[in-house]
Amino acid sequence: MLREVVRGLSTTLKSMFEKPVTIQYPEVKRPVRNRYRGRHHLRRYENGLERCIGCSLCAAACPAGAIFVEASENTDEERYSPGERYASTYEINMMRCIFCGYCEDACPTQAIVLGDNYELSFTDRTQAIYGKAMLLDPVPGGGAPTPQRTEPGKFTRAVPEMKNPEDEEASA
Ligand code: SF4
Ligand code: SF4
Repeated sequence: MLREVVRGLSTTLKSMFEKPVTIQYPEVKRPVRNRYRGRHHLRRYENGLERCIGCSLCAAACPAGAIFVEASENTDEERYSPGERYASTYEINMMRCIFCGYCEDACPTQAIVLGDNYELSFTDRTQAIYGKAMLLDPVPGGGAPTPQRTEPGKFTRAVPEMKNPEDEEASA
């Protein structure tokens, strides 16, 4: 009996000097893996224009029907994104989302990305719908907020010109 008590206490004593496996969340946050898929955000270009062109490809690719996009027309006096259209409404229902990343893969302008934020909590259904104001990144330093007044004929391409990575590898 005494032997068992001593054995039990020695286990307790030993664990007091071991490195704890728990952390003091939320003061301390554990870094996530590189490929972790957390809360989405909508990116901007360096000049502040929004990458999202309201094409709805992300909504079409979403297996959970979690995304709702409504597009409106850009003008040079009131431009939100390059090209003809921008997302005037962009919503993700976080209660539906399964964090598969298909929206990210489908996006032609790399506007929607899943980040590393896992602190998603809400107390009613309406709070679970994340709108554009919540999702859109802040304006980067040196950029201007949207809508912007832009030079006519400058931002006609909705999708940026991209190089074939294989060509770049070949020339390196
Ligand atoms: S991560 Fe998947 S489920 Fe969530 S919004 Fe994107 S496509 Fe839909
Ligand atoms: S996030 Fe990308 S795929 Fe979705 S509407 Fe905007 S540009 Fe299109």
